Amino acid sequence: MKRRDFIQKVGVGSLAVGTSLASSNVANAATQFKWKMVTAWPKNFPGLGTNANLLAKMITDMSGGRIKIKVYGAKELVPAFEVFDAVSNGIAEMGHSGAYYWKGKTEATQFFSAVPFGLTAQEMNAWLYYGGGMELWRELYKPFGIIPTATGNSGVQMAGWFNREINTFEDLKGLKMRIPGLGGEVLRRAGGTTVNMPGGELFTSLQSGALDATEWVGPYNDLAFGFYKVAKYYYYPGWHEPGSTMEALINEKAFNSLPKDLQQIVLMACKAANMDMISEYTARNNQALDALINKHKVKVLPLPNDVLRKLKQISDEVVVELANKDALSKKIYDSVSQFRAQVTQWGVVSELAFLKARML
Ligand code: CA
Repeated sequence: MKRRDFIQKVGVGSLAVGTSLASSNVANAATQFKWKMVTAWPKNFPGLGTNANLLAKMITDMSGGRIKIKVYGAKELVPAFEVFDAVSNGIAEMGHSGAYYWKGKTEATQFFSAVPFGLTAQEMNAWLYYGGGMELWRELYKPFGIIPTATGNSGVQMAGWFNREINTFEDLKGLKMRIPGLGGEVLRRAGGTTVNMPGGELFTSLQSGALDATEWVGPYNDLAFGFYKVAKYYYYPGWHEPGSTMEALINEKAFNSLPKDLQQIVLMACKAANMDMISEYTARNNQALDALINKHKVKVLPLPNDVLRKLKQISDEVVVELANKDALSKKIYDSVSQFRAQVTQWGVVSELAFLKARML
């Protein structure tokens, strides 16, 4: 159906060049759209801000300039935490952010960014594109006049930088750590103290002892921040953010005003940007990890199994509480938890078995 629409449109459009046919399709094909994209990241921030730039450029290039998008860093048009409202109100046609920022709007947004002990990047994309996740995400954002989709994924993050060793679960007690979102709630219940502060203040806070630990992203972004100069231990894995999804927000009215070919271009560019980010992070994280270990002599340590097991128990409680907030949260939780159970069973005999085999 979509393909036929597309072929018809191309046909009418080409005809119009010679005959100046005045139909609405012809007008659409010639219309230029000037869009704004507001982002939750500092302008050009590596990995996240640069993904927003790439997405905007792809949409402009793929549409032959019919959609031009100006990208705004956080605070340039609206502050980071107002990106959702700006797209909802039509101040900007698009936004680039992470869904967990909008839990104040509706708690279930957190299912679409990062869930402790949740889905990896590959699994998240499988759930979104082929497991019913995308439909649920659209249902969740529908009352706000926003169409969401995935535009990137960090992959498995690191547990973070610590100034003391974590050998037992008790070592988390009293730990002052910057860890946002559901992971932060889990750490609080484990006896830690979570501190919220912008990325720019983390280095000095670790140095002064105001923080005992911080998570950030992974080796690529963490190396750039220089945390290895002020924290001794770099722990893995990022149990709290196993595959953080970045979202593109599209104002529904603006999207509906586009001809069908441009609608597809916007959505396909998001899909391409999604693939691009996980590829970039995988490549750059392994380069950066190598530098941290071999050049900067960082101690890279696994969190002990017993600590992870207890964090997982608490995480499951926190996520079930989130599911019980309202009917749609429950529906999303049921979908994603059933998917996680099945994909874990498959993962054991595929990715996990293979990665182990490759280490033999
Ligand atoms: Ca993080």
